[in-house]
Amino acid sequence: MAQTKNTYQFEDLLDKHQLKKTAARLRVLSMMYAKNTATSQPDLESVMHDIDRVTLYRVLNVFEEKGIIHKVFDLNGTANYAVCQSGCHEHHHHDEHLHFNCTACKGVFCLNELSLPAINLPAGFQPSGFTVYASGLCPKCSKMQ
Ligand SMILES: [Zn+2]
Ligand SMILES: [Zn+2]
Ligand SMILES: [Zn+2]
Repeated sequence: MAQTKNTYQFEDLLDKHQLKKTAARLRVLSMMYAKNTATSQPDLESVMHDIDRVTLYRVLNVFEEKGIIHKVFDLNGTANYAVCQSGCHEHHHHDEHLHFNCTACKGVFCLNELSLPAINLPAGFQPSGFTVYASGLCPKCSKMQ
């Protein structure tokens, strides 16, 4: 879940993926690593007033392409982004784990330890990915019931 990293480690991460160390990229990384839930672009926009939408959009796109973050859709169909585990590479994601959508706080959680079973589709279907999610109450919200 929430992983702690410092600025130097974020710089290393960008180096590793051959990305220039821009202030916007470093800010987005530190924001996303500080949370244990996925973050949508509007969420990021609301806390980063100095970064314009186009820049933010490009940062998220390049991170997704490089295998740093993956896209998860919430119950409303809004795209959220979550930090990938170490197995992801450029154009090659391994994020076939269960996602949990909390109906109370709207948090989207990556349940990395619950990998999805292999699903064999009928002949002719070539899936580029699977999206499976559970919904209900997260640990924090279920305690408040
Ligand atoms: Zn990934
Ligand atoms: Zn919740
Ligand atoms: Zn995930």
